[in-house]
Amino acid sequence: MKILLVEDSATLRHAMSHYITDAGHTPLIARSGEEALQLLEDTPVDMIIMDVEMPGLNGFETTRLIREWLGGHWIPIIFVTGRNEDESYREGIEAGGDDYLIKPVSYMIIKAKIRAMERIAEMRDQLNRLNAELEALSQLDSLTQIYNRRTFTEQAEQQWLVATRQQQPVSALMIDVDHFKLFNDHYGHPAGDACLKKITQAIKSCLRRPLDLLGRYGGEEFIVLLPETDSVGAFRVAGSINKAVEALGLPHDVSPTCPVATVSIGGATCTRTAGHSLEELIKCADRALYKAKRSGRNRALVDEVVIHKTVLIVDSEADDLRRVTSILQQHCNILTAEALDEGLEIAFDVRPDVILIDAGTAAEDDHRFCRHLARSDKTVVIPVVLMLDEDVPEGPVPDRFIGIRESLRKPLTEKNLLNKIQQLMS
Ligand code: GH3
Ligand code: MG
Ligand code: MG
Ligand code: MG
Repeated sequence: MKILLVEDSATLRHAMSHYITDAGHTPLIARSGEEALQLLEDTPVDMIIMDVEMPGLNGFETTRLIREWLGGHWIPIIFVTGRNEDESYREGIEAGGDDYLIKPVSYMIIKAKIRAMERIAEMRDQLNRLNAELEALSQLDSLTQIYNRRTFTEQAEQQWLVATRQQQPVSALMIDVDHFKLFNDHYGHPAGDACLKKITQAIKSCLRRPLDLLGRYGGEEFIVLLPETDSVGAFRVAGSINKAVEALGLPHDVSPTCPVATVSIGGATCTRTAGHSLEELIKCADRALYKAKRSGRNRALVDEVVIHKTVLIVDSEADDLRRVTSILQQHCNILTAEALDEGLEIAFDVRPDVILIDAGTAAEDDHRFCRHLARSDKTVVIPVVLMLDEDVPEGPVPDRFIGIRESLRKPLTEKNLLNKIQQLMS
């Protein structure tokens, strides 16, 4: 352990630092309370042995300041002093000391006390580790009692799948407290925490639908998922959150933008989730948040996730699949399937704008693919392009590919492929 020894007498410093070294620990030396405080600012220590009578700050005063500086982080502090009155003992413990030894102190006593304190410090470390594990296991953020980031993301992924299946829009709002560092610096961290709790309640009061999802995304950042909500709806919810937070009237005297605590909100909407991801939506909301901050704070901006058309490519030849993907990927979202069944599943779940299918793959299993697509109202409208081998004679698509009218002949050129796809997507 690193043990800080605070002692103004050179003789005692010398003796005591020998004791510490002999007990197997590393002494750090401060000759006054002031020096101790300075040293602690950039050197973490595991224990402090503190003299009481010193010029300048005495040991009790120094201990009070150290406890304040360390906040929730506890380390043992042992007084070693010539004062043996009961009152002084009481004052030492009140100031934040954990033990009180009367000089002269023998080596055996010091060694035993250090060992006892070390044991308590070990228990504290273990408790902190367990608490961190518990926090990670729990679904809720301990300060605000809303979903933590991990749980939020899990729940939001579920909602995303539902939205894709039901072809519903999804919006996300990223909410960040304005000038919160200044708030903390001015009012203190506990007041900052209380402010975050109140803001949580204000946000909650604006979320009316049972599927709306709220989480704490990071320190002073919150995130909301709004299923079945387009950008107009998202903007309305965001606006009400701005108002509700401002209406809390939490004074923020040092904010350069508003005399009360406020939030900035970046929103994003994905009107068709197929071929997009939750991650993309959140990134887009983050960019909008950045813009909201830059344009003055205490406001909301909602962007649309850029919608590309989606093309499904079904080809059992991995090389062909890669080649077609590389030609198209800058122009649309690509979904691929090597097997027929997988292709059908994607076609029904996602309903792409165009399907490209290799004739060899389509011919497999008695043209089941074409029949299945033709049978459902939802997929019959999707244009299907058949990729035919070179040796198939020119002319209309062979009859056996029921319902398919469009075709391309291999080897596919970039120009032909793009022309065909763009014509069908427009
Ligand atoms: P901006 O308007 O650009 O968002 O400025 P800001 O000061 O809010 O931004 P910055 O990201 O620099 O600071 C965020 C601060 O939030 C840093 C930290 O002090 C504070 N903070 C983060 N988490 C907590 C928390 O759990 N409790 C408290 N009290 N403060 C926190
Ligand atoms: Mg002294
Ligand atoms: Mg932030
Ligand atoms: Mg902030």
